[in-house]
Amino acid sequence: MTSRAVDGVLIVGGGYAGVHTARSVRRAGRSASVVDPTGRHDFVTRLAAVAGGTAPTSDAAAPLSDFADDVIIGSMTAVRDGEVDLSDGTTLTADAVVITAGAVPITPPIDGIEHAYPLRTEADALELRAEIETCDAVVIVGGGATGVQLAGAIAAAQPRTAVTIVDVSDRLLAGMGKASGRDAARILCERGVSIRLGSEVDEILEHGVLIDGEATDGLPVWAGGFAARADQFGLPANDEGRLLVDRFLRVEGWTKTFAAGDIALHLTEDGDELPMSAQIAVQAGDAAGRNAVRTLRGDALDRADLGHRGWVLDLGGNRGLAEVGPVALTAPFLDLLPPTLHWGIDMKHLIETRGLAGFNDRPGA
Ligand SMILES: Cc1cc2nc3c(=O)[nH]c(=O)nc-3n(C[C@H](O)[C@H](O)[C@H](O)COP(=O)(O)OP(=O)(O)OC[C@H]3O[C@@H](n4cnc5c(N)ncnc54)[C@H](O)[C@@H]3O)c2cc1C
Repeated sequence: MTSRAVDGVLIVGGGYAGVHTARSVRRAGRSASVVDPTGRHDFVTRLAAVAGGTAPTSDAAAPLSDFADDVIIGSMTAVRDGEVDLSDGTTLTADAVVITAGAVPITPPIDGIEHAYPLRTEADALELRAEIETCDAVVIVGGGATGVQLAGAIAAAQPRTAVTIVDVSDRLLAGMGKASGRDAARILCERGVSIRLGSEVDEILEHGVLIDGEATDGLPVWAGGFAARADQFGLPANDEGRLLVDRFLRVEGWTKTFAAGDIALHLTEDGDELPMSAQIAVQAGDAAGRNAVRTLRGDALDRADLGHRGWVLDLGGNRGLAEVGPVALTAPFLDLLPPTLHWGIDMKHLIETRGLAGFNDRPGA
C-alpha cells in the first residue's frame, strides 16, 4: 500500500465533467490532476456516429494530457473525504477532490446479455464499428438517444445493412417529448430501419434476439440505458446508485470532496432531478471545479445553478432533431439544423477544454 499526495485538485474520471472540472481549476491558476483507467477523454456524444460509420475513428477520443496538468492511469475502488484508493493499492490524497466517474451500461437479468455489444467508451465504439462493417444486419435493443442515434448513423453509412431497433416502450425517445419520438421514427423509417415498439426481449443470442419466442437476426447491440454506481465506491447514493451531493456539489457530509456528471444526482433550484447528459456534466464540472478551488483557498462556496436546456440528436446523413426548452424542432425542413447544432456543441466543448488544439483536431477534420 503506497500513499501519494496530489497538489491542487484531484479529479477522478476524465469524461465531460472531468475535463470541465480541469478547465475551471486551471483557469483559476491551480493544478488539475486526473486519474482515469485509460488516460483518454472519450467524446461520448460522438460515439454513435463513430460506431455507425458516419464519423472518423479519430473523433472517438483524445489523450487526457491535452486537458490536464497531470494524468494518473488508475481506477478508483473506494473513496473517503480527500482520499482515493486505486485498484493497484495506491491511495491518492488531496485537499480537494472531484469525483466524475460517470455511469456504465446497465446489465438487466436478460439471458445472453453478455452477447450484446455496449456503447459507452472509445473501445466499445471501435469494436462495434469493426463488427458492423462486416455484418449485414444489426439489432439495437433500446430506443433512447443512444439507440436512435446509432440506428440513424448505421442506416446513413451502410444503407444495405438491415437495422432493427427494439424497445419495450410504445414510442422512441421516451425521455423526450412525443413529437421528437415521432420525428425520430419518421427519419429512421425513411432510411429503412425496422422499429419494433412494445417489444420485450426475452433472450439475446450470439447473432440476434428472441422476442415472444421468435428470433430477429442481427449483431446484437445493447442501448438499454446507463446507471451510476456510486454505492460501489462506498459513497452515499440513492436507489439508482447516484451520489448524493449538496447544493455546492459537495458529497453529502464531507468537506473536501465534490462530485459532478452522471455519477451524481443533480437537481435544479426547484429540486427537480436533472437527466444524465453531457450538457449537465459540463455545467456541473465547471461548478465543481470552481468550488474545489475555493476549498483550497478557504473561500466561501458558490451554489451550483444547473439547468437542462434541451436535447440535440444527430441521426447521421445530415438529419437530426432537437428540443429547445418546450419547442421541438421536428419539421422536415429543419432536419439539417440539429446535426449542425450537435457539431457546434461538440466543437465548443473541445475548444473550451483544449484551446486551439481542439479546433485543429476538430471532429470530422
Ligand atoms: C452513445 C451516446 C451518445 C450520447 N449523446 C449525448 C448527446 O448528444 N448529448 C448529451 O447531452 N448527452 C449525450 N450522451 C450522454 C453523455 O455522454 C453523458 O451524460 C456524459 O458522458 C456524462 O459525462 P461524465 O463526465 O459524467 O461521464 P463520462 O463522460 O462517461 O466520463 C466518465 C469517466 O470516468 C472514468 N471512470 C469510470 N470509472 C472510473 C474509476 N473507477 N476510476 C477512475 N475513473 C473512472 C471513465 O473512464 C470516463 O473517462 C450520450 C451517451 C451515449 C452513450
